[in-house]
Amino acid sequence: MNNKTDIIIIGAGISGLICALESLKLGKKVLIIDAQSREKLGGLARAAFGGMALIDTPEQRSKGIKDSPEIAFQDWCSFAEFTEADHWPKQWAKYYTENSINEVYEYIKALNIRFLPAVSWVERGLYTPGNSLPRYHILWGASLRLINQLIKQLSQFENTLLSYQFECTVTQLLKTDHRVIGCSTRNNLTQDAEYFADAVVVASGGFTGNLDKVREVWPKEWGQAQSGLLNGTHPTNDGKMHDCVEDIGGQTTHMSNMWNYAAGIPNPNPDFKNHGLSLIPPRSALWVDHQGKRIGPEPLITSFDTLHMCRQINKLQIPHSWQILNQRIALKELAISGSEHNPAIRDRQFITLLKEIFLGNHKLLNKMLTESDHFIIADSLEELIEKMNQLTVKHPVSIDELSNSVNRFDEIVSRKQAFWNDDQLRRIMTIRKWTTDKLRTCYPKTLQGHGPLIAVKLNLITRKCLGGVKTDLQCRVLNQNDIPIIGLYAIGEASGFGGGGSNGKRSLEGTFLSACILTARQAARSI
Ligand SMILES: Cc1cc2nc3c(=O)[nH]c(=O)nc-3n(C[C@H](O)[C@H](O)[C@H](O)COP(=O)(O)OP(=O)(O)OC[C@H]3O[C@@H](n4cnc5c(N)ncnc54)[C@H](O)[C@@H]3O)c2cc1C
Repeated sequence: MNNKTDIIIIGAGISGLICALESLKLGKKVLIIDAQSREKLGGLARAAFGGMALIDTPEQRSKGIKDSPEIAFQDWCSFAEFTEADHWPKQWAKYYTENSINEVYEYIKALNIRFLPAVSWVERGLYTPGNSLPRYHILWGASLRLINQLIKQLSQFENTLLSYQFECTVTQLLKTDHRVIGCSTRNNLTQDAEYFADAVVVASGGFTGNLDKVREVWPKEWGQAQSGLLNGTHPTNDGKMHDCVEDIGGQTTHMSNMWNYAAGIPNPNPDFKNHGLSLIPPRSALWVDHQGKRIGPEPLITSFDTLHMCRQINKLQIPHSWQILNQRIALKELAISGSEHNPAIRDRQFITLLKEIFLGNHKLLNKMLTESDHFIIADSLEELIEKMNQLTVKHPVSIDELSNSVNRFDEIVSRKQAFWNDDQLRRIMTIRKWTTDKLRTCYPKTLQGHGPLIAVKLNLITRKCLGGVKTDLQCRVLNQNDIPIIGLYAIGEASGFGGGGSNGKRSLEGTFLSACILTARQAARSI
């Protein structure tokens, strides 16, 4: 038979590359097919930051954090809110918490990559308990370094066991009565073709690059998705492979569970329509609605429950919000997710990183103020409001509302600390107790009177699919009767990071790249 190989991998993201590498090491012949060009090898992990939830690492232990798979699994299940039906997602959560050291941490170290010594404490939980301990580790060199190391290793097999088809989109999975045998493709460069293999691995990522699909599966209890939704992934993450899996009888589950973010801005240098950047929203900023009224009743502040923040933002009548801060806060707390806006980490410049932490990230703030019209700076509140209203003529900020929100907050912060009866201040003081997070969180001071004021206009931005193709622990795709479809596997984000939704409703954060590694290695072994 023409075009026959041992394993076809659909998608050259981190999960596809690792599954390929591990299969090649076992002597298998592999074909990787990707809709994008060779320069994009690595998929979203090229752009990702490289934060990973890892359990009981030397980095944690050196900081006195006593973590264990048991504690992590308990935190995970609490945040995930699994139901009785979530057998395989829960199995994957358990597998993750029990194997993050040997399957992820050691694997990365063996590729000559290390983690920053600091461990952050994200997603602590708000009404639902989350991470009871800090466990967010940052790859030194970002995930781009991981991808570059993988590409180097894969190159040893090219022209022998490994081949690629780029700019080639899989349009259909091919199946006989009892097994998957290959796929059909549409190729931008050559002709349409069919490829055949003993095993086909779906590693095509999620669907949050397709805003129509996101709107279609948006959680019903949230009402409609807001109109200003930004695209935080890539248009090739369109979910068409999920449809192909369904077409041959495979199951997809938990598609309405997504891990989107509340603080998106349009990318000033977009690669595609609605391309957004996701800010790590400064904790000390005041988060207000389109009129300038502080969002409540509990103030919005990151580090606790991202899902809750997105839900609150989606409730707003007018689909944008504002963060009000000043230069002092922006220099210490402003960050943007991804390797592009964290060059000191991506390029492993330790001195630059230290300067940014202790002297402020002037470069990032200046870049945003110059390039993005969603960043506004002014010397007074009146001037700020005037400039904000030039951007949002249709839905202006109310001078009274915003002045009231800012003046009220400033009045409380001006008091002695014992009288700071404000939930945002309480939470900031708790965050500052953990040294790593203190480095990136200002001691509370008034917004006015500490450098120019800054306003940032924000929209919801899509990012990760928590649901996906249902699999068992061997990454075999399950049919409607929960029976494995012979020859078909799913890994990475396509599989909802394992089992069709291993994070349940919420991620402890940084559970994505790591789950791609876990599922990819498991699939290679299983095949
Ligand atoms: C800016 C940013 C920052 C992030 N930061 C983090 C972080 O710090 N920590 C973390 O854990 N996660 C992070 N993530 C998420 C993480 O990067 C992704 O979840 C992960 O990289 C997904 O990998 P994957 O291999 O499953 O899929 P992808 O990387 O999406 O790769 C899928 C590939 O499949 C191809 N494809 C899709 N459909 C077809 C088809 N029909 N035919 C052929 N090819 C197809 C696509 O072109 C793509 O190359 C971040 C994501 C972004 C965008």
